[in-house]
This record gives sequence, structure tokens and C-alpha cells, in this order.
Amino acid sequence: QCITHCPTGALHERDDIAKVSAALADPDKIVIAQVAPSVRTSWAEGLAIDPAQATPQRMVAAIRKLGFDYVFDTDFAADVTIMEEGSELLHRLDEEGPMFTSCCPGWVRFLKAKHPALVHKLSSTKSPQQIFGALAKSYYAELLDVDASRIFVVSYMPCVAKKEECTYPGMDAAGAGPDVDVVLTVRELIRQLKSRFVDVALLPEEEFDAPLGVATGAGHIFGVTGGVMEAALRSAYFLVTGENPDADAFREVRSAGADRGWREKSFQLPDRTLRIAVTSGLANADALCTAIERGEVDYDFVEVMACPGGCVGGGGQPIHEGEEWAAPRAGILHGIDQKSALRFSHENPSVKACYENYLEAPLSEKAEALLHSNHLKDWSMPWR
Ligand code: SF4
Repeated sequence: QCITHCPTGALHERDDIAKVSAALADPDKIVIAQVAPSVRTSWAEGLAIDPAQATPQRMVAAIRKLGFDYVFDTDFAADVTIMEEGSELLHRLDEEGPMFTSCCPGWVRFLKAKHPALVHKLSSTKSPQQIFGALAKSYYAELLDVDASRIFVVSYMPCVAKKEECTYPGMDAAGAGPDVDVVLTVRELIRQLKSRFVDVALLPEEEFDAPLGVATGAGHIFGVTGGVMEAALRSAYFLVTGENPDADAFREVRSAGADRGWREKSFQLPDRTLRIAVTSGLANADALCTAIERGEVDYDFVEVMACPGGCVGGGGQPIHEGEEWAAPRAGILHGIDQKSALRFSHENPSVKACYENYLEAPLSEKAEALLHSNHLKDWSMPWR
């Protein structure tokens, strides 16, 4: 809100549309779009289209119309994130204190600034945006049989912090420049579509490209508070027992933010109890971290998203003066998950193929090099 109300213009949102236009005009570049989960809930707000017609498939057609060679889904990378983070969680369960999720750069930056003693508790797994970029310029370059330097990755994100995340040390793991070249917010996507006079209401519905456009319901719910936790628990249960739980077995983590500012819950796995906490909004995160540091609470796994409600309420989303749209957007993502044929990250056929043909296994040497970061070394805070 501050960006639109600053009377002096001192707060100015960086517009990166021209960088994308230049890449799209370059015949040597293979320009790839990745679209974050929550973008599909809000991409048409303010465009001349009936909300019922503003489907994810029509969004794909609209982005393709802008000239991209491939339109892929960040939710594929969210499924990969779960494979890595779920495996990491099981390895770290005997450590003292919780493992924190690390897919939200706003939260990671906050933790490094306000609670540096807890930084070592962050999961080393990179965010879906960065996992996608690293795989696009390694695995997918190999599939296309092209030099990775020709691939240009554009992220459509609900987030302004993601514009910085892709520039941090270690976010060039594929060895072909930054793994993600440019990040555009949903507001920039809407401006792009308007400036190119794309009449979205007339577009047919189209599917994401394969294989990096194939995702499960677990990947889709990354865009809403509690979603990363729910997706991780679905696969952690499978990794421990060899069987799938009911896909809705962990849905109680969805309504986070109650009571003390976070929601806590215990789930029974065959050999142990898993204590989890979920919160969103940095004031709530601060209170939770303080309680952990004081030893007042103890958890095994904690999900934090910086924006209230998660990315559906993100800083790069369309702004509706005096209205809060995170809850209805969250409902859209849960609806997509409910209707998905596959609801477990470990069942994503494109993820399975990626491991079989390229990464070998979660936490393999190759996966560690491409998909993990060292929070104590990389992502150094410029002002510290
Ligand atoms: Fe970005 Fe907010 Fe989502 Fe964090 S919660 S990734 S800061 S939009």
C-alpha cells in the first residue's frame, strides 16, 4: 500500500518489464516463463474478463501470447521442494529445536536480521522459484540439448522480495548466470497484458508445457499459509510409512494465525509424534521466534510466510483499496488442490522422471549442489 501512497515517490516499485521485452525480442534466447501458485488466483483482477473465465489455463494462454517459448509452472518446482525438504526434515528430526521452512525470502531475510541465532534452523532447501531456475538451466537445457546460456528464465511472482532473492550469492548454481533472470510481479503481468492489448476474454484455454509444467495439488497450495506444511506432511508420511495418508489428513494446519499468533498441532507418525507450528505475518513470526528462543515452546517443523495469509496476500499482488483479498484467493488454491488428479508431490510423474534421469535421489550430491543453499554462508546480509 505504501508504494501507491508515498507522496514523494521515494518508495518506487522497480518495473522490469523492459528486460523481459528485450529477451523476447532476442532470437538467440529461449525465453521461459514460470508462474507461481498464487498468480493463478489473481492474474485477471482488473482485466476485462468474468472471474469465472479467468482460469489457470486461460492465464497460460495469455502469457504464451506475450511471446514466451515455454510456459512452465513453479508448482512443479514446489513438488521438488517437498521431495528435498521432506527428506531433509526426516534427517534433522533428532536435532534440538525446529526446522524452519525457507521458501519465503521475506521471512528468511527477517530471521537473519532479527533472530540470527536461529538461522541455522532454516531448511537448506531453496525456494521453488530458485529450484525451478536451477533445473531450467541444467536439466531442461540438457533435455533441449542447448547451451544453458541461451535460456532466459522469467518468474511471475506474487512477491517483490523475489526480485532480490534471485540476485543473492549461490543463486547461480547451474553455472549459466543467474538461475532466474528476471522476476515480474502480478501487477507487472497485468500491465504487460494491458500494454500489449491482449484480449484475455477471447483466448482459448491452454495447458502448461511439459515436463516442467506438471504439478500436483500439493504444489498448488504452496501459495497459501499452511500449504507448504500440509504438502510436506503428506509426503513425509509416505516417506516414513511407504503408504499415502488421506490427502486431507493434515488440513487442520490451514487455519493458521489464531491464539498466540500461530497455530500448533501434533500429528502421529508410526514411530513418533511430529509437533508443528504455522504462522504468517512478520509480527506473528517475531512472537513465535521469541517464544522459541526463550524455550517456551518446542516444535519439530515450523512454516512461516512473511505476508499475512501467505503469497495470496503477497506484496506483488493487485491492490484493492481498503479490501483484503487473500482469503478468497486461498479458497481458489484449495479448490484446485481438491480437484487435482494427483495430490502428493512424490507422485508427480515429471518430478519422478527428473530424479530418475537427472538428480538421482533427494539430497544426492547433484541435488545438494543445485537445490540447496548454505544460509550461514550464502545469502549474506549486505548491511551486517
Ligand atoms: Fe513473497 Fe510474501 Fe510469498 Fe513471502 S509470503 S514469498 S514475501 S509473497
